[in-house]
Amino acid sequence: MKVKICGIKRKEDALKAISYGADAIGLLVGQKHPSHDFITKEEAREIVRAIPSFCASVLVTHIDKPEEIISLARFISVNTIQLHSNITISDIQKVKKALPNVSLIKCIHVRDEKSILEAQKYQDFVDAILLDTYNEKTDQVGGTGLTHDWSISKQIIDTLSTKVIVAGGINPDNIEKVKSYLHPYAVDVNSGVKGPDGYKDDEKLKVFIERAHEKEKVLVSACLLGMNCKYDGKHNRNEKVLKYLEDKIAIPICPEQLGGLSTPRIPAERIGDNVFTKKGDNVTEEYQKGAKMALEICKYYHISKAILKSKSPSCGVGKIYDGTFTGTLIEKSGVTAEVLKNAGIEVISSDEIA
Ligand code: SF4
Repeated sequence: MKVKICGIKRKEDALKAISYGADAIGLLVGQKHPSHDFITKEEAREIVRAIPSFCASVLVTHIDKPEEIISLARFISVNTIQLHSNITISDIQKVKKALPNVSLIKCIHVRDEKSILEAQKYQDFVDAILLDTYNEKTDQVGGTGLTHDWSISKQIIDTLSTKVIVAGGINPDNIEKVKSYLHPYAVDVNSGVKGPDGYKDDEKLKVFIERAHEKEKVLVSACLLGMNCKYDGKHNRNEKVLKYLEDKIAIPICPEQLGGLSTPRIPAERIGDNVFTKKGDNVTEEYQKGAKMALEICKYYHISKAILKSKSPSCGVGKIYDGTFTGTLIEKSGVTAEVLKNAGIEVISSDEIA
């Protein structure tokens, strides 16, 4: 996934971002809406002259007159323009005709279902669509620090054939969620990597870019990977799950072992909020401990997705055995699956992996 660091105001911040691996830097020139990040065209030109040519330099502007946009882009010498205004398609075509080698990004503010149609309207006339948040209270059209409805963004990403960049309230803490839920072509961050002085914060920049470039991390029931942690000392190796994880980083866990239970162990099933072994021992505490540790691991690694073994009293998602040890299924989740779900983690049953 590509990373654009937006709202760069100083040469040193641009160079720092690039040294950490940023793919593009955004320079705000031509202001019409409130923002603390606008700089002069001369300052922007100085920054562009200082950065290596392999990094995209993006003029981010509120201007909607094609002649002004073209003149600014030529003066600053950027290779990309990001349009935040209500520019018409015919004016976009004028810019493209005058600057055929400059890539164009059109910003769409995600408000409701109508945003999907708006994005579709522009997609054939630009090189990428950027999804951002509009702050009605402050009239800010970018750099708001606010997220928008990602379920609408997801529909836009799924329906468009062009590249989609996601912006708006993204920061080092939610970048994993953006990656695993939206899978965008790129992410754009501004206020999420700012320090209290209004400039880019070194540590936040570094961590954000590292996490954005990393493969998606997924928590997975260890037995699905072939680890012998099942109650009978065997495993539930699942080739479909292994294939699904090929381009991701798998973090294997066995909540029952994390809770202190040994392997092999007596099988157990869930009855209400408790878990009992086939011999009648109450092992609820161990199951809860394992679930808690699984959640801690998710928090530590910023994991927002888990693939768990179906039907297990710990890992089962949506369906588990009913506590009678007769193979009867009921609609309920295992202890760990429930805890992770309640914490906002996307929990997928191994049976759902095609
Ligand atoms: Fe597999 Fe989960 Fe059971 Fe451990 S607790 S054996 S990971 S299903």
